[in-house]
Amino acid sequence: MARVVIIGASIGGLPAAYEARAFLAKKHKVTVISNVESFHFVPSNPWVAVGWRTRKDISFQIAPVLAKKGIEFVHATADRIDPEQNRVVTAKGEVPYDYLIIATGPKLNFGAVPGLGPSG
Ligand SMILES: Cc1cc2nc3c(=O)[nH]c(=O)nc-3n(C[C@H](O)[C@H](O)[C@H](O)COP(=O)(O)OP(=O)(O)OC[C@H]3O[C@@H](n4cnc5c(N)ncnc54)[C@H](O)[C@@H]3O)c2cc1C
Repeated sequence: MARVVIIGASIGGLPAAYEARAFLAKKHKVTVISNVESFHFVPSNPWVAVGWRTRKDISFQIAPVLAKKGIEFVHATADRIDPEQNRVVTAKGEVPYDYLIIATGPKLNFGAVPGLGPSG
C-alpha cells in the first residue's frame, strides 16, 4: 500500500488528488491536507467583486466531496515537512507519505511593483 499525500486543496491540489485516486488501485491511500475547509475558485473572484456571482456560487465544502471519492481529508496547516521520516507535521498530528505533492500555491510579491499591492 502506497500513501499519496497532497498539501493544498485548490486548483492544483484537488485535480491532483482526483487524478491520483482515479489512477491508483483502491489499496493505495490518497490524503489531502488543507488549511482551509472550502474550495474557492479564485479566477471567479472578479465576478464576486462586481456582483455577478456570490461567494457561495464559487465555493464548496471540500470534505464531503473528497469523502465521496474515497480521498481522506485533513483540515490542518502543514507546519513542516520531514523528508527524513517521510511525514508532514500538522497541529492535528503527523501524516506519513510515500509520495508527496506540494500544491500550496504561489506567494505573490506585490511589493515588487510599486503601487500594485493591496496597501498601495
Ligand atoms: C482574479 C484571478 C483570475 C485568474 N484567472 C485565471 C484563469 O483564467 N486561468 C488560469 O489558469 N489561472 C487564473 N488565475 C490564477 C489561478 O487562480 C492560480 O494559478 C491558481 O489558483 C493556483 O492554484 P494552486 O492550487 O497552485 O494555488 P492556490 O490557489 O494558491 O492554492 C493553494 C492552497 O494551498 C493552501 N495552503 C497553503 N499553504 C498551506 C499549508 N502550509 N498547509 C495546508 N494548506 C496550505 C491554501 O490555503 C490554498 O487553498 C487567476 C487568478 C486570479 C487572482
